[in-house]
Amino acid sequence: MRDPWVAPIRLALEEAALAPRSGDVPVGAVVLAPDGSVIGRAHNEREAVGDPTAHAEVLAIRQAADTVGSWRLTGCTLLVTLEPCTMCAGAIVLSRLERVVYGAVDEKAGAVGSLWDVVRDRRLNHRPEVVAGVLSQECAQLLTDFFRGDDRECGSGPGTDFGARLGIR
Ligand SMILES: [Zn+2]
Repeated sequence: MRDPWVAPIRLALEEAALAPRSGDVPVGAVVLAPDGSVIGRAHNEREAVGDPTAHAEVLAIRQAADTVGSWRLTGCTLLVTLEPCTMCAGAIVLSRLERVVYGAVDEKAGAVGSLWDVVRDRRLNHRPEVVAGVLSQECAQLLTDFFRGDDRECGSGPGTDFGARLGIR
């Protein structure tokens, strides 16, 4: 059976690819309404706007809430190329999203299964469904390429693994 999340994760990947134009780490996110239509799409803009909270997920969630006309995103799905951080995992819970789907695992800062599992914490009364690892190779490759570019400029060798650099996020 064809994975229903591959096509929307590709949209998130397209978004992610726009981020490096402003020197931003390539992470992209998309929010789908219950009927599957796109109601939010954004990429990381932390450098672009100088805002530490301008992660792709937060921006896409804000757009979706604007589109829906409510802070409650009941029945909606957030797709993101990289496992969300603690802030974004919190925003996912607070927006009552039905589901979160992500690509690459963030072993350094991930809060949806890696370092923490904020969205499935049993102490919370809203726990979104989690689908991890959709197109994880492509999602990780984008990050690896981004940081590898940095390495070339500095002329250094190690650190081509994106995971080694994600502490900056
Ligand atoms: Zn985040």
